[in-house]
Amino acid sequence: MEMFPVKLKSLTTVLAATLCFATAGAGLAQDSAPPVAKVTAATPPPKLIVAISVDQFSADLFAEYRSHYTGGLARLASGVVFPAGYQSHGATETCPGHSTILTGNHPAHTGIIANNYFDLSVARSDKRVYCAEDETVPDTSSGGGKYAASVNHLMVPTLGDLMKARDPKAQIVSVAGKDRAAIMMGGRKADELMWLFPGGLTSYRGTTLSPVAQQASSAIAAAIGQARPAMDLPADCASHDIAIPIDKGGTVGTGRFQRDGGDFRRFMASPEADGAVLAAGAALRAARKLGEGSTTDLLILGLSATDYIGHSTGTEGAEMCIQMHALDQQLGDFFARLDATGIDYAVVLTADHGGHDLPERNRQNAWPAAERVDAALDPEAMGKAVAEKLGLPQPLLYGDGPFGDMYLSKALTPAQRKAALAELVARYRAHRQVEAVVTGEELANHPISKRSPDVWTLMDKLRASYNAQRSGDFIVVLKPRVTPIPESGLGYVATHGSVWDYDRRVPILFWRKGLTAFEQPNAVMTVDIMPTLAALIDLPVDAAKIDGRCLDLLSGPESSCRP
Ligand SMILES: [Zn+2]
Repeated sequence: MEMFPVKLKSLTTVLAATLCFATAGAGLAQDSAPPVAKVTAATPPPKLIVAISVDQFSADLFAEYRSHYTGGLARLASGVVFPAGYQSHGATETCPGHSTILTGNHPAHTGIIANNYFDLSVARSDKRVYCAEDETVPDTSSGGGKYAASVNHLMVPTLGDLMKARDPKAQIVSVAGKDRAAIMMGGRKADELMWLFPGGLTSYRGTTLSPVAQQASSAIAAAIGQARPAMDLPADCASHDIAIPIDKGGTVGTGRFQRDGGDFRRFMASPEADGAVLAAGAALRAARKLGEGSTTDLLILGLSATDYIGHSTGTEGAEMCIQMHALDQQLGDFFARLDATGIDYAVVLTADHGGHDLPERNRQNAWPAAERVDAALDPEAMGKAVAEKLGLPQPLLYGDGPFGDMYLSKALTPAQRKAALAELVARYRAHRQVEAVVTGEELANHPISKRSPDVWTLMDKLRASYNAQRSGDFIVVLKPRVTPIPESGLGYVATHGSVWDYDRRVPILFWRKGLTAFEQPNAVMTVDIMPTLAALIDLPVDAAKIDGRCLDLLSGPESSCRP
């Protein structure tokens, strides 16, 4: 594959060799495999489910690059394709998005309403709570790697949890670039669950990685430690290769992913990170013989590089173009190794949220109204101004940025609280960049929509993100085209998280050997994935306990869903 970046391939080869990629096969002879039989309702369940989340892989990126894919994404794009998948809720961040994929539930029910929320009743001084931490562990705080990773906040079971409950022999392995991805998809009962860190792979405090995971970790640590030369620019990325100046100096748009040895941040924001997760996943599959036992196993892979690349360089530069080619090729290599085992496996691939480009490039590309958020919307600044005006104690307002959930201080009398809420809501509403401000009380009284997610109202979207225990006193919604980063700096120029469709729409792709291809362009949701996979392995799911529905993967009159 000429356009394939040579440097990346060599990395994958190095990792593969170290991780015994070549022996990933279980000795099931490929040459004795029968010709591909069409999957029907009578076909036994697959022996392995591979659930892949590509962080920030928007429906727009999938559409833009679909005709260029030749590897793993081309394979998935020729399966059962839902190009208009929705992370239907309003707070389109990583943790909430990952919490929907294998639980069948909106964040309203998973409890994962945001990456960070506030709990003013926690004992420690830092009242911010990270979605995937245990804030009751002494000497922790929500940021800066000082938290104790935990699944505690997830309020519902995952597919893996249900598989384990039915048959403890079912193996569940979850590997991701980010802890919140591995945890929110992996659930409570995973046999192995790990994520990338500067030392390779790590897991919950006090746990020890298995020998194979340790081997993978060492190989990844060695790769991180090595300097990486620039990657080649695939020929069809040339039109993206334009330097865009950013506020704090420097440019984005022409990057090639070269980095110094030991630069973990750049490692994560490059195709290398996805290669590491895929290599580790393949090594763990082989070592644990996933897909070779009496029951169906589950391998969960969280590929985070696309998100870090989107945040640091936007979605339309050479960097993302290189990443789309690399992701396609690395997934292709991964599937080829699975094919060689002869295991009957089913794949689902989706994303935790969409994304969009940085305003500086959007303005150059026919979207002149794109802009950055006004720093005055910062909750600290807003709270200070209102507290001074009304003579209220400070700090008055807590929020994790200029939009989303906002929490009022608990040190207010009911009358003060009422006055503060009224003044804050009025001030936010009056700002020209604010679309709407909705109170928690209003959302509590709004039903969860049963309509198709493409026609959801603003209230419907926010309601799917609302959890009475964790949501803010009010929620601020920015207008479309407003990027909630006040100033672009190296490493952070673009983001997601909004209620708008560029952040909600993601592809949902299913593939299994012998499955008749079809495309359904109407809207479906990521909460539909869990019941769809459960039906594929005859696992009963109580429809009253989930928000999604089973998607029938069999074209024609037969159905893959339970009667
Ligand atoms: Zn994400």
